[in-house]
Amino acid sequence: MAKTQEFKTEVRQLLNLMINSLYSNRDIFLRELIANAADALDKARFESLTKSELSAEWQIKITFDKDAKTLTISDNGIGMNEAEVVENIGTIAKSGTRAFLQMMEANKENKADLPEMIGQFGVGFYSAFMVAGKVELRTKKRGSDDPAVLWTSEGEGSFTLDAAPEYDATGTEIKLFLKDDAEKYLDRWMIVSLIRKYSDYIEYPIVVPEEKENEDKTKTLVDTVVNSQKAIWLRKPSEVTEDEYKSFYSHLSNFGGTEYLKAIHMAAEGTSEFKALLFLPKEAPFNFLMPEIQKKGLQLYVKRVFITDECKALLPDYLRFVCGVVDSSDLPLNVSREILQENPLLARIEKAVTAKILSELKHLLENDRESYEKFFDQFGRVLKEGIHTDFANGDKLKDLVLYETMNGERGKKITLAEYVKAMPENQKEIFYISGDKYESVASNPALEYFRKAGFDVLFMTDPIDEWIMQSMFQYDKKNFKSVVKGDFAVDGAADTAKDAAEKYAKLVEYLKKEFGTELSDVRFSSRLTDSPCCLITEGNALSPHLERLFRAMHQEVPVSKRILELNAAHPLVEKLEALVEKGDSPELGDYVRVLYDQALLIEGSPIPDPADFAKRVTALLSGALK
Ligand code: ADP
Repeated sequence: MAKTQEFKTEVRQLLNLMINSLYSNRDIFLRELIANAADALDKARFESLTKSELSAEWQIKITFDKDAKTLTISDNGIGMNEAEVVENIGTIAKSGTRAFLQMMEANKENKADLPEMIGQFGVGFYSAFMVAGKVELRTKKRGSDDPAVLWTSEGEGSFTLDAAPEYDATGTEIKLFLKDDAEKYLDRWMIVSLIRKYSDYIEYPIVVPEEKENEDKTKTLVDTVVNSQKAIWLRKPSEVTEDEYKSFYSHLSNFGGTEYLKAIHMAAEGTSEFKALLFLPKEAPFNFLMPEIQKKGLQLYVKRVFITDECKALLPDYLRFVCGVVDSSDLPLNVSREILQENPLLARIEKAVTAKILSELKHLLENDRESYEKFFDQFGRVLKEGIHTDFANGDKLKDLVLYETMNGERGKKITLAEYVKAMPENQKEIFYISGDKYESVASNPALEYFRKAGFDVLFMTDPIDEWIMQSMFQYDKKNFKSVVKGDFAVDGAADTAKDAAEKYAKLVEYLKKEFGTELSDVRFSSRLTDSPCCLITEGNALSPHLERLFRAMHQEVPVSKRILELNAAHPLVEKLEALVEKGDSPELGDYVRVLYDQALLIEGSPIPDPADFAKRVTALLSGALK
């Protein structure tokens, strides 16, 4: 008995858009359906490793009927029972569905590239409706007694389920009733060229029957395999063409573009034998920042047999931008997915793969700085996480990070090695300043001393930088020191500060009273040359920037009290002291509050009461204009 069900709302919206607004790039529907068929074959073959009765001659077959205007894609893979059909195709909206809809909304004006990205969002099946007015899917689950199911839909809001007694195979068959404007897909040459273009590397034979003329001039259909099925990673790098790498990368990266930065083709022998083909991407794919739909880890094969798509144990998290395949000859074929978590063989492969990737990055940095910098702009933030999580490779990772600096132009980034090399002899530590953007760190008055002394300062403006600094400790045996934290030992500074503290004792006393518990100290600084004051954090306290980051992540952190440092050489300080000594000066409170708020603004911190600040400034301006 046929029964009709509604599509889930989001699926309905998605189908609506597929049908009514995506007209270009429709070719990709075939690639998506073939990829699904190959996945179904992977699953079936994996099951058959332990249940040999499930084995079959795995293949994907594509047939067409010019009269009926149908194109059929079939596989003898894992298949689905009724519950799975309903769940996979129609009622359960996957996280990718909504993400794809949002992206379509955002790219309203430029829809041409959208079909390319369907695969990234795990909504490939629905691309069938770009070319078909009606889709019939017949399927029977391999290794189960569940009856075959027929799923039919015109993509308009509902689908129908029925029994499919006529389907006597095992696996899945998808019949597309092509729209009038999609009849070109009934041409064998067209189909074959699309398969060669997008699906050549698919490991299973893709068969497209071909008409052959017999000796007696009659014609018969002969099954012809049209893809080369080459496991590209097993071939010698010298025998693989750039185009082959490209098309394989496009498949691996879920069709997030065909541009890769570098292909890393490895053949390891010795303690662990494996082959790997890894890619450094040129650009972050759309889903890179959507952890819930991003694939993690590498594909794992054992002696050419696909085991899993997301083997996390093969790659540390901080290299998650790398995609690729590892094919091991040491693992047993019937390895279970659970065992994959803590297998020492995999740990060894991970180590070798990590070392190789890091050395390739170093090579790129040394030989093609421009490409490396572009790469770092995209993925540097992720790579840096390794400094915190992978101590064994900490030194190698420190060599790969780049920073803007005070002495360099905006946008020019240098390595730590370059920083150290440029250090004058009397500079003993590596100085840095962190904040949320270039402008706020570059104008921080705490830099004045360093500018004068000729010491460069690293600008850390990536939110992750401060967190990473906690594991940086040293580079080239030199300590890192924040220029806005703790005290400074500058020659003769202690005496100057002591003299100033005596000279301006009244002012300091006044400020301490005025700010009460808001500040932890008021003192004189050797950091400042031009500005009257700046705010500093205790040596081990969280910086205000990091404090804000933690709060933004809804984490409770204590408010660290700041130290107000004054510049004894600034005329304003002298004038304020005079006002304090004079006593009974109504503007004094306005002056010091404005000064304090300014110090906050300059370092990029919010001021506690902007209205109060504006009021005080207005009062002072009116006074000055009297
Ligand atoms: P994705 O393949 O990225 O998960 P799709 O929308 O293309 O997204 O497919 C949805 C689901 O339908 C698949 O995950 C799979 O479970 C099922 N499916 C699709 N095609 C087939 C097939 N040929 N054989 C078995 N299952 C399939």
